[in-house]
Amino acid sequence: MSGPHIGVLALQGDVREHLAALRAVGAHAVPVRRHAELESVDALLLPGGESTTMSLLLRELELADPLRARLADGMPAYGSCAGMILLASEIADAGAEGRAALALAGIDMTVRRNAFGRQVDSFEGDIEFDGLDEPVHAVFIRAPWVERTGPGVQVLAEAAGHPVAVRQGPVLATSFHPEVTGDRRIHRLFVDIVTGQA
Ligand code: GLN
Repeated sequence: MSGPHIGVLALQGDVREHLAALRAVGAHAVPVRRHAELESVDALLLPGGESTTMSLLLRELELADPLRARLADGMPAYGSCAGMILLASEIADAGAEGRAALALAGIDMTVRRNAFGRQVDSFEGDIEFDGLDEPVHAVFIRAPWVERTGPGVQVLAEAAGHPVAVRQGPVLATSFHPEVTGDRRIHRLFVDIVTGQA
């Protein structure tokens, strides 16, 4: 099959929905659970789910260091919700010691876990997204927000006064879940980043 080889980190969470969305926009999408699979893909999508559980599994499967290394090496990545948390360089409210969410440092930013969740567990709304003509219907589920961005980080969308979509070079992150709405524009943007067209 043609199209870039994009892995979906398949430890827990919205794996199937992201595989389907990536395939719908022309990527060759495969689940990634092992080190060899991680090494074989051009890019990686980190899905929503629970960042502390994914971090536990990343440690157990000895994937955390290889993943950090690939990100440091410039591998394109996209993280949604829990995936955004994992891509941060710093996490506020990371969880209990010993099972805290891991910051894999794909983007120079501080992300607060469950930031919206303190007021309301989940909500949705239409938000402006830089580079897209029509607003995105964004679904937030116990979502994080971005509290600090480094100088190289572009803010693509905001909600409640905080960045909820950011990009640094080939790494993209959203607080919300584009895989649940049928709108493939965010997945298309990621594929365009991977192929050097965006
Ligand atoms: N609150 C979750 C976490 O801390 C993220 C929720 C989600 O991915 N929908 O990982």
